[in-house]
Amino acid sequence: MITASTSLSQLTDVSKSTASLPRILDLTPSELTDWVVAHGWPKFRAGQLQKWLFHHRATSFEQMSDLPKPMREQLAAEFRLFAAEVESHQVAYDQTEKLLLKLGDGETIECVLMREPDRVTVCISTQVGCAMGCVFCASGMLGLKRNLSAGEILEELLRMQTLLSPDERITNIVVMGIGEPLANLPAVLQVLAAASSPDGLGIGARHITVSTVGLPAKIREFAHTGKQYNLAISLHAPNNTLRDKLVPVNDKIGVEAILDAADEYFEVTGRRVTFEYVLLAQVNDEPQHAQQLAQLLRGRCAHVNLIPMNGVSLLPYHEPAAPRTQQFVAILEQAGIPASVRKRKGADIDAACGQLRLKHEKS
Ligand code: SAH
Repeated sequence: MITASTSLSQLTDVSKSTASLPRILDLTPSELTDWVVAHGWPKFRAGQLQKWLFHHRATSFEQMSDLPKPMREQLAAEFRLFAAEVESHQVAYDQTEKLLLKLGDGETIECVLMREPDRVTVCISTQVGCAMGCVFCASGMLGLKRNLSAGEILEELLRMQTLLSPDERITNIVVMGIGEPLANLPAVLQVLAAASSPDGLGIGARHITVSTVGLPAKIREFAHTGKQYNLAISLHAPNNTLRDKLVPVNDKIGVEAILDAADEYFEVTGRRVTFEYVLLAQVNDEPQHAQQLAQLLRGRCAHVNLIPMNGVSLLPYHEPAAPRTQQFVAILEQAGIPASVRKRKGADIDAACGQLRLKHEKS
């Protein structure tokens, strides 16, 4: 099952003596420029440094060969580049890869790289654990430990970039890993700015999707970034009674407030909002659920992404049989609501986020 194509030592660039240094990836572009200027280097050196970080896939300051040696030495003395360790690296039969990263404080997070003929999508985590407590999700089973910093999230992206061959590049980002991204919005926005900037990873905002449990005030804030990021809302139920059971934070929010915020997101950004719906056999997969969902979304510029439940050991939920899923899709489509079923990637490597970390924490 595990066929690590890159040795762990190649991926791990952490020296014990530097463990307390700040992470260079936590700096915004203007903070980076300030550092360069404060150390007496011309401003353009900041641009070169950024190129090494984001375009040339550097894993150490030493490699940054067009920066003056004293500057590289200063950087190495003051900052860490990669601060996490690769605890495990799995490669699935379909070439999906997953990293379990061990952070400076010993906590672990997961990130996934998925290949398709026309795209390379990465899925990133934004928190250590999750406070939302969705009953079918492995990520929240151990609660929330802490937010990730912008640098820690960016390291996920850059680490995954080092797994690519020179002719491959990351084309899409989904913020659907461990954690609730809108509960860590400032760090997430800093990361997405770097990801979408031409001086950063150069991934267009329309190729970046943030998935949220549905925090209305934060959705509204996210709507006003001036960028066209995609928003996906994890609805999972077409009414409050059922949603309260599956997504416990719903009892303080309610489906109506989420839909209002989603409408604002569409009005402000012009981006069609996706509603995610994990299909749980005999829980939320009845024809009447599909009809109710269609009713709820009627007249909205929306799309439903049905996610077959990824089995989590110890949890009593399972994906429905294929005909049941198809029936759900058909009801939505007959009602004029576009729907798709998410393809499963990396099925042989616990690729549903949170599962690998859970296994690791339990052992
Ligand atoms: N907290 C955010 C993002 C992380 S979860 C959110 O709630 O959207 C990303 C998506 O994976 C969510 O739609 C979530 O409900 C779904 N998910 C969680 N556990 C799953 C499982 N076992 N099988 C299938 N999808 C799951």
